[in-house]
Amino acid sequence: MTVKILIIEDEAAIREMVDMALSAAGYQVFGAESGEEGFSVLNEHVPDLILLDWMLPGMSGIDFARRIRKDPLCGQIPIIMLTARGEEEDKVRGLDSGVDDFITKPFSPRELASRIKAVLRRASPMASEEVVDVEGLTLDPVSHRITANDSNVDMGPTEFRLLHFFMTHPERVFTRGQLLDNVWGTNVYVEERTVDVHIRRLRKAISGTGHDRLIQTVRGAGYRFSTRP
Ligand code: CA
Repeated sequence: MTVKILIIEDEAAIREMVDMALSAAGYQVFGAESGEEGFSVLNEHVPDLILLDWMLPGMSGIDFARRIRKDPLCGQIPIIMLTARGEEEDKVRGLDSGVDDFITKPFSPRELASRIKAVLRRASPMASEEVVDVEGLTLDPVSHRITANDSNVDMGPTEFRLLHFFMTHPERVFTRGQLLDNVWGTNVYVEERTVDVHIRRLRKAISGTGHDRLIQTVRGAGYRFSTRP
């Protein structure tokens, strides 16, 4: 099944670059110049992912995202926002509007493709047999192998599942309770501080190559797997 992507961007050059790169990668691409046009495309095709420019004439990207989240048919479609540099504060507001990820312009087709893959992977747990690679940390769920900068890493089965969950759900904060539900399962009764113990072991296992930096403590909230400092 061909994965469909809608790009809403008023700059024709970016739209064309994205169209070419993604079409070459096997995606079916639909383009729109404005949020209004985006909605009319959505009436015809329901895409698997939306690339949404922040600064659009008329309806802004954020307004578009907020509106689409209320739509019963399209409300679950993952959105990657395209932003210009220096909009960090706006990025935070964007997260409130239900955007799944951001890409800062200018971006390379390669970066775009890898972000799209990550967001789609997060959206469909079906793809969980895929090898995941984040900054030299590689996890193969089929052979149960982890390598960091090409050397083998040993860890226990719980740390393995925890890392797999994190790597397939990046850039999102999870509470200890959510991690227990997703990694340990809902039928298991484990105290929340057990999570901290396993996080500590996991960090230790991948600390030799500095990859422990990817597992971040979010004060008062929980933990996050992120490539951003
Ligand atoms: Ca724009």
